[in-house]
Amino acid sequence: MTGLVYKSTGSFYSVKTEDHQVFECRIKGKFRMKGIKSTNPIAVGDVVDFEIDESTDEVIGQIHHIHDRKNYIVRKSVNLSKQTHIIASNIDVVFLLVTINNPPTTTSFIDRFLVTAEAYGIEAVLVFNKIDTFDDAMLDEQLYLQHIYSEIGYRCLRVSAINGKGIQALKDLMVGKVSMFSGHSGVGKSTLVNALEPNLNLKTKQISEQSKQGQHTTTFAEMYDLSFGAKIIDTPGIKGFGIVDMEPSEVSDYFPEFFRLKEDCKFNNCLHKDEPHCAVKKALEEDKIAWSRYNSYLKILEGDEEHYRTDIYND
Ligand code: GDP
Ligand code: ZN
Repeated sequence: MTGLVYKSTGSFYSVKTEDHQVFECRIKGKFRMKGIKSTNPIAVGDVVDFEIDESTDEVIGQIHHIHDRKNYIVRKSVNLSKQTHIIASNIDVVFLLVTINNPPTTTSFIDRFLVTAEAYGIEAVLVFNKIDTFDDAMLDEQLYLQHIYSEIGYRCLRVSAINGKGIQALKDLMVGKVSMFSGHSGVGKSTLVNALEPNLNLKTKQISEQSKQGQHTTTFAEMYDLSFGAKIIDTPGIKGFGIVDMEPSEVSDYFPEFFRLKEDCKFNNCLHKDEPHCAVKKALEEDKIAWSRYNSYLKILEGDEEHYRTDIYND
């Protein structure tokens, strides 16, 4: 049988088949994914083949094969062991909630997020929330950001999780896909998910309240089916996940508007900093590239390890 991993607790996996049957499964023997050294061989979002051992009364599936992943996101532990943990796989779209105020979301944060999504090969969509609170200045700022990002090719939505504006457009984008939601604490992730599907009660909220009290909780990502034909992956307690080992020369490949100009630079290894005849610098001076984007790029380039890790924060 073939199914989708909805939940993993480390040793057990809940796998749902296409006809909506859920099976508790274990990994058969020892097998490892080719190429990735991770603490968990199977993650939420994986498509697996399994079989039920008919000779026992226990209805426990044995997973014997993982289908190739189209993408996956990892968390690398910051301690010395630097172990990689696969948080989730096969994500179709990741929504970044952006607020203008309360809390402010900086362009540098947005850009690091987008770089990460590009590197993982996951479509990113910007969701500007709390539009019901906008005064003229906030509206101007939001529309300016929307202009910058839609020009580059990122889809932008404007919503209010409180009054429901824009929610239908968001649902339309989610239908038939596996989605994740990200953004600073307080941007409205829980409120938004509740607007999408009342009574779902994701764990994200509970966990972030617990961790404020200094409690350490280990939790696992989990996939949920929403009533309108969408799936979301909730990642409670996960503060961030990072790009593993990004080379400086690679960074600009994840800025789509830089990448498009790359072949017009004189040097094919141009870092778009001080090199002569740089097409990116030229576009910047002609206002065809936003300064905020270029500054984010420099920050990532010059940054310490933290910048290179360009974590996507859920918290
Ligand atoms: P999370 O930390 O990202 O899950 O954020 P929450 O969903 O807990 O929301 C943080 C605060 O923002 C709460 O007080 C919400 O009521 C409020 N909030 C969320 N979305 C909106 C919105 O669209 N408009 C307004 N005015 N407030 C919102
Ligand atoms: Zn250049």
